[in-house]
Amino acid sequence: MNYFIGSNTFDKTPNEISTSRYWLKSNIEKVEPLVGRDFGLSECVEAARELFPKEIIYNWSECTIETRIKLVEDYSFYVADAFKLNNFKGLYIEDTGFGCAGYNNGDGKIHVSEMLVNNKNETPFELIDTIVHEMRHQYQSECMCGLHPIDSNVLNEWLAADRLYTNDSPYALDPWGYKYNALELDARYAGETVIREFTKDYRV
Ligand SMILES: [Zn+2]
Repeated sequence: MNYFIGSNTFDKTPNEISTSRYWLKSNIEKVEPLVGRDFGLSECVEAARELFPKEIIYNWSECTIETRIKLVEDYSFYVADAFKLNNFKGLYIEDTGFGCAGYNNGDGKIHVSEMLVNNKNETPFELIDTIVHEMRHQYQSECMCGLHPIDSNVLNEWLAADRLYTNDSPYALDPWGYKYNALELDARYAGETVIREFTKDYRV
């Protein structure tokens, strides 16, 4: 079950509300946490700091392809832990097609463009962003399958967005189709929040 703070408390006195908020948890055997949009993101930032120190960031163009692959694979396992994924089945670095940095269809496999890894002009930030983004889509799918506790408002938004998700028509004609679909907004928020926090280390 989910315990939503602030819900269904209007028929109680203020004293009863504060009592229930502070004491309810100890009276319930299993209370799942209220989980929202920032779930797992600080752990993704910490992992990025650990695996991609400044020596790596500034010398990325000199890193061998093998080193890059090892780093992004290691990072994907950290992100899987951060999002507590149940069905993570690995990172697939491959040709994902023109203009596609990566994709995930909820089957546990995270596909990332080999161009991002091979191209010396790319930065690790783009890889970190893409990995978090695509793994966030896996997390969303698992949430919609009931595998993770999550705030009901977020879940309902994702379920509605999933029904309307499409790449078929220009988003100008279909505001919920792809670009501003709530699942994409959440995945971009996740990837870009991790990058925003991580790149604070590089401000001078
Ligand atoms: Zn996406």
